[in-house]
Amino acid sequence: MRFFSDNSRLTHGWYPYRAILALMPKSILSIHAHPDDESSKGAATVAKYVTEGARAVLVTATGGEAGDILNSTMDRPEIAGRLQEVRAVELAEAAKIIGYDVVEMLGYRDSGMPGSEANAHPDAFCRQPLDGVLERVVRLVRRHRPDVVLGYDAHEFYPHPDHLRIHEISVAVVAAAADGERFPEAGDPWEIKKLYAPVFTSDRIMTLHRAMLRAAGESPFEMWIERMNAFEAPGRRLARVDVTGFIDQGRDALRAHRTQVDPEGFWFAVPTELVESVYPWEDFELLYSSVRWHEGESDLFEGLS
Ligand SMILES: [Zn+2]
Repeated sequence: MRFFSDNSRLTHGWYPYRAILALMPKSILSIHAHPDDESSKGAATVAKYVTEGARAVLVTATGGEAGDILNSTMDRPEIAGRLQEVRAVELAEAAKIIGYDVVEMLGYRDSGMPGSEANAHPDAFCRQPLDGVLERVVRLVRRHRPDVVLGYDAHEFYPHPDHLRIHEISVAVVAAAADGERFPEAGDPWEIKKLYAPVFTSDRIMTLHRAMLRAAGESPFEMWIERMNAFEAPGRRLARVDVTGFIDQGRDALRAHRTQVDPEGFWFAVPTELVESVYPWEDFELLYSSVRWHEGESDLFEGLS
């Protein structure tokens, strides 16, 4: 009580403010294009932070209705006829496995790969005006007040128009959410402290590739090796989060997307134990930070207190 009677500290003091901040949970908000992206990009890291007490919010832009059914056992007319509904249930299950507290679905329609018919649909995500989508994401950021946002980088190995659109939104949302003159109807300004994008680095792929060749004589990354320069981006500011003990949680979330993910397929080809023994990390590219980055960063909340 004596502490609070000290006026100078109460008025100017950083100490009470720090104490209040320390009581507030860390908060992370992920923005993804389709149901399943939240499970294939950074899922183990989010699961880890949730276990450590962070609050996690997932924003998914589309319903996944234009995607193919990639698991042959699920390719049945009764599923294909209500794909959006089925994928919403799969997403809810995956988000629960990862530990997301909230799932916000923007409800746009999937676009297809470049040149596909789905892109002509008036509701297709890639056709929506950027500002309209940005306002909705700003509103969610201002409501949930995340310290860290996960979005997409520009080095997309997979040039899906919806992913490129999420990149545009990711880089625009930091300034827009903090600027009270942008979208004043969308809530009080909020400053995102850091923006990262989950990335696959050439280091990761080559390490897992070599480990699989040693362990099994074959590797699921064979066809990626020729395109390895797509994963190399010198000068990127990277953070590498140790996800030992959380990799299976991410994989279980991915398996929940039964219509999109072949349970015998690529994503599960490298045994968890092998991943943990040679590359137990998920990599993130830092796209914006209000604090200094340093080589060897290993915590997305580093520097924030
Ligand atoms: Zn996607």
